[in-house]
Amino acid sequence: MAARMLDGTAASAAIREELQPRTRAFLARTGRPPGLGIVLAGNDPGSEIYVRNKLKAAGEAGIHAELIRIPAEAPFSEVLESVAALNGREEIDGLIVQSPLPAAMGADAETRVLDAIDPAKDVDGFTPVNAGLLVQNRPGLMACTPAGIIELLAREGIGIQGRRAVVIGRSDIVGKPMALLLLHRHATVTICHSRTRDLPAVAREADVLVVAIGRPAFVTPDFVKPDAVVIDVGMNAVTDEVLVRSLFPPDSPRLAAFARRGSITVGDVHPAVAGIAGALTPVPGGVGPLTVAMLLSNTVRAAEARRGA
Ligand code: NAP
Repeated sequence: MAARMLDGTAASAAIREELQPRTRAFLARTGRPPGLGIVLAGNDPGSEIYVRNKLKAAGEAGIHAELIRIPAEAPFSEVLESVAALNGREEIDGLIVQSPLPAAMGADAETRVLDAIDPAKDVDGFTPVNAGLLVQNRPGLMACTPAGIIELLAREGIGIQGRRAVVIGRSDIVGKPMALLLLHRHATVTICHSRTRDLPAVAREADVLVVAIGRPAFVTPDFVKPDAVVIDVGMNAVTDEVLVRSLFPPDSPRLAAFARRGSITVGDVHPAVAGIAGALTPVPGGVGPLTVAMLLSNTVRAAEARRGA
């Protein structure tokens, strides 16, 4: 039987709808909307799309959002100065620096940015303070993608407690916080990475399998226990026609989209997994929309916390 598709777009819309009364109440109480500052350095095409989506979604949620653009060739100090300025502005409650930063800004630029952001405004949840609070299961601003996945599981009525969870990927922004959130909800958690031995066998132990590795269609049906819940975090722009044709049937709308655009977004999970999993997040339309919704949710939370609501 085909897997139940977990609709991230619908869950995201519901989360954003639920934020509306809170943003209205905040405006009524403080005389201003919650404020989000986004710093975008360089012109990475993917980042341009992500930032445009975030600005649009913020506006629709009643959040004042503003963009600070920094040219790719600017010195890294300009990024730090923008962060310091946003840290200091009363009407800005949350701030993010879009990743990746231009390579010329240095290998440690992303870390230095995280050290500069005021943790109370860290609506990506990536600063060491918020990462540490998550480790200790204390309230803080949580990384948006894993928080969105937890929200989706809850809204879909998928229990976590006592279940075997396997997370493939150990990044600071997805894999590690995802594993901690599952652990705090009483799953028995295994974290896998590029050096894990016999990965398919480990993955097959999972009742809940989260895949965040950045490799198109890497997780095939032999990684999946029948009826497992599979969360596909991957967002891979694929331009290889042979690969796309190997993944989708000839009449698939995905092939038509590829023919039009020369590129489509493919997850880390092979489409054939839909034939064995019990539930699956599609790509696109699964985890991606939830990440934006949780960024807005974090911004409203940060605003309320800063004003003592
Ligand atoms: P990342 O920082 O590159 O980390 C990738 C992780 O996957 C690493 O831990 C790596 O292991 C592991 N990995 C790579 N190849 C592997 C393999 N063959 N077997 C097992 N593990 C392997 O990536 P990320 O930032 O976490 O993102 C992962 C994916 O999620 C990307 O496609 C990204 O675009 C997507 N993403 C989507 C959203 C969304 O909103 N939907 C948000 C964030 C990220 P090592 O640590 O051993 O190198």
